[in-house]
Amino acid sequence: MSKTAAVHDATCIFCKIIKGEIPSFKLLETEHAYSFLDIQPTAAGHTLIIPKYHGAKLTDIPDDYLQDVLPMTKKLVKLLDLDIVGQDGIGYNLLQNNGKIAHQEVPHVHFHLIPKRDTKTGLGVQWPTAEPDFETLGKLHKELLAKLENSD
Ligand code: 5GP
Ligand code: ZN
Repeated sequence: MSKTAAVHDATCIFCKIIKGEIPSFKLLETEHAYSFLDIQPTAAGHTLIIPKYHGAKLTDIPDDYLQDVLPMTKKLVKLLDLDIVGQDGIGYNLLQNNGKIAHQEVPHVHFHLIPKRDTKTGLGVQWPTAEPDFETLGKLHKELLAKLENSD
């Protein structure tokens, strides 16, 4: 993967954290990614993983700045003791909000790693669902496949 030159925004709070201009409770850092404790955790150990490239939404970030995010998240899951084999009742969510309507407050892409140890702390999910409608799904699938065929 080719290396894209980093982009930073001097006014962005997460860019300032990456550059050490404001403090953070840093956990892991690589050439492309940085992780630190969320300042207002919804559960103990709530951690943010960010690319070292400024962009508000996922598609603004070049692939090389995303390549460390999931491997880093896996290390953090282990560090936080969230995947101890046989440990019943412990889980975690990985959340990445894009856009104000989708609950994004900080316009620098970030992945929340949120421990789920009980019903009171951590992520609560409201997820309205529709009944399976195979005609609508099939039509959409066809449209998307046609778009994929026409894209490079
Ligand atoms: P969003 O709603 O944009 O997905 O989440 C932004 C997250 O960033 C929030 O959970 C908030 O607590 C966290 N946050 C905002 N400012 C700071 C900061 O200065 N330091 C740290 N460590 N976390 C922050
Ligand atoms: Zn930024």
